[in-house]
Amino acid sequence: MSTSSINGCLTSLSLANSPVKRITLAPSISCRLNPSSPSPPPPPPTLIRNEPVFAAPAPIITPILREEMGKDSYEEAIAGLQQLLREKGDLEAVAAAKIEQITAELQGAVVDGKVFDPVERMKHGFVHFKTEKFQKSPALFGELAKGQSPKFMVFACSDSRVCPSHILNLQPGEAFMVRNIANMVPAYDQTRYSGVGAAIEYAVLHLKVQNIVVVGHSCCGGIKGLMSIPDDGSTSTDFIEDWVKICLPAKHKVNAEYSSLPFPDQCSQCEKEAVNVSLGNLLTYPFVREGLVKKTLALKGGYYDFVNGTFELWGLDFGLTPSLSVREVASILHWKL
Ligand SMILES: [Zn+2]
Repeated sequence: MSTSSINGCLTSLSLANSPVKRITLAPSISCRLNPSSPSPPPPPPTLIRNEPVFAAPAPIITPILREEMGKDSYEEAIAGLQQLLREKGDLEAVAAAKIEQITAELQGAVVDGKVFDPVERMKHGFVHFKTEKFQKSPALFGELAKGQSPKFMVFACSDSRVCPSHILNLQPGEAFMVRNIANMVPAYDQTRYSGVGAAIEYAVLHLKVQNIVVVGHSCCGGIKGLMSIPDDGSTSTDFIEDWVKICLPAKHKVNAEYSSLPFPDQCSQCEKEAVNVSLGNLLTYPFVREGLVKKTLALKGGYYDFVNGTFELWGLDFGLTPSLSVREVASILHWKL
């Protein structure tokens, strides 16, 4: 496929052609560097450019390289460094550290003997999707162009190895997804976790999904982080530990029931218990409880073991009745409100 046809694909997917009214974000206040200048201020930038994405944009700032920076041979650069170190031997330690850093950067840039190019990777990925899926399923994508009505809402970990679309072969339009560290669902909280709440509200009330599935997985770094938080609760990260504390009840249960197990096995247990905590937390959302009571919604737990290539699925019967309040649910599940 030529570059121009790729650009055509992207243009056709842009918001400019969407029935949704295009939102332009313009600053409400503008200022000029020279107030006496009669020329009008430049137009505000738009966030979505109606131009090919894969065409290399003109550089905003043209770099000006100084003469001595223009060494074009590796040998010249090394000779220059050696000369500098002969003259200033006390720079040796600094030079060694910088060379180590450059070596690491160069090693990271090479994949399978080739320099990794993120733009090329994404370009080839989209071309593959377009030719193998989009163009081969016009009926499906024609329907999806009109709207979505997924049967599933899926919570999965952000871990790059556990994409639900791959492991459950979910097709476009089948699952409304939230991915976060350790696939956690926080309890209803309009201020701390409004992003998750908005997704659940939209999925249940507007998309009317029939199933919410929380999928845990093996070797989860987020769960390992939770299990590694010191007993005094102190943290050293800006966000991560505070986030995974959502599933502290799972850690407490594992510590109480599996204290004799080696740490990796305790983490495996916690990966599953944390799914149950998230399922319980879903009950704190009134529209989720209502769906369960009316039996228009079901909650399921899942666990993907990518070491052994297995997937477990289970349901929890909360025995909800319309008369149960949040406080009563909380007491059943031993929560502190
Ligand atoms: Zn994970």
